[in-house]
Amino acid sequence: MRITGATKVFAVIGDPVGHSLSPLMHNGWIEDHGLDAVYVALPLRSADPVAAIRAMGQFGMKGANVTVPHKEAAAKAAGWAEGEAANVLRWEADGSLSAFNTDGAGFLDALDEAAPGWGRSVKTALVLGAGGAARAIGQALSPRVDAVCVANRTQGRAENVAAALGNGRAARWQELDREFGEADLIVQATTLGMQGQANHDWPMSRCKGGALVADIVYRPLETEFLRAAHARGLVAVDGLGMLIHQGARAFELWFGIAPDTAKARARLLAALGA
Ligand code: NAP
Repeated sequence: MRITGATKVFAVIGDPVGHSLSPLMHNGWIEDHGLDAVYVALPLRSADPVAAIRAMGQFGMKGANVTVPHKEAAAKAAGWAEGEAANVLRWEADGSLSAFNTDGAGFLDALDEAAPGWGRSVKTALVLGAGGAARAIGQALSPRVDAVCVANRTQGRAENVAAALGNGRAARWQELDREFGEADLIVQATTLGMQGQANHDWPMSRCKGGALVADIVYRPLETEFLRAAHARGLVAVDGLGMLIHQGARAFELWFGIAPDTAKARARLLAALGA
């Protein structure tokens, strides 16, 4: 990659971003296609992230991914936004800023890839968590299943996420045993099991024999949640697929090119030492 005065700059912004895999993924695709662009990680610590994001356009930025804690600020900063939280920004030729959210669709792409035809057997989905990722996944799953159950440590947040879905219901965190037994698809979308975070004793033995489970945490690649699912003989989907597919959709929004997701997976697995 040769950086010149004409090289277009893309970034992931959030706090922290130092361990993000997005630069490796996007720079790999940029090289695959011989594009004059570079993708970097920019930590954003600001009392006014909306103003900081708007100002980035003045430096000629063309696009960005947005991660915790700035997804809502990103949507607010944009002249046009797909929803209330954005993980992709694109500066348009006229200088205006558009905001998109590819998290939910990226999760579905990963599920379609890892468990083709899952929609035929999944009627009830259980989403664990009520943060930004859980909300996006709940919204993406909602039209594809009969019912979405949301369980979260903080009950009120589960109720808010469930209320925004036409077929949503909030469950009690204390009743996960029962909820695990009723779901056809269980999506782990909390930070539990992530490197440096707490673990949880998931009631995997209560799952239906044919249940499909997915964890969106990808550090470590095989979380305790996935290990328990594998031990139970369930089809288990890791979090790398969502990362790659939400990124592929972002890349396509910026460059109009659908990048090679299999190549990205091989590169990221090597980086994770898997
Ligand atoms: P977030 O908005 O900060 O939400 C965190 C969630 O985790 C909340 O539901 C929170 O519950 C729950 N939680 C945290 N500590 C907990 C504990 N000790 N016990 C029970 N629940 C706990 O984060 P997010 O953006 O939604 O991301 C969630 C996870 O998904 C992160 O690990 C992130 O890296 C991962 N992620 C992966 C992808 C991907 O592409 N694979 C994309 C986005 C996010 P409370 O509401 O009770 O605090």
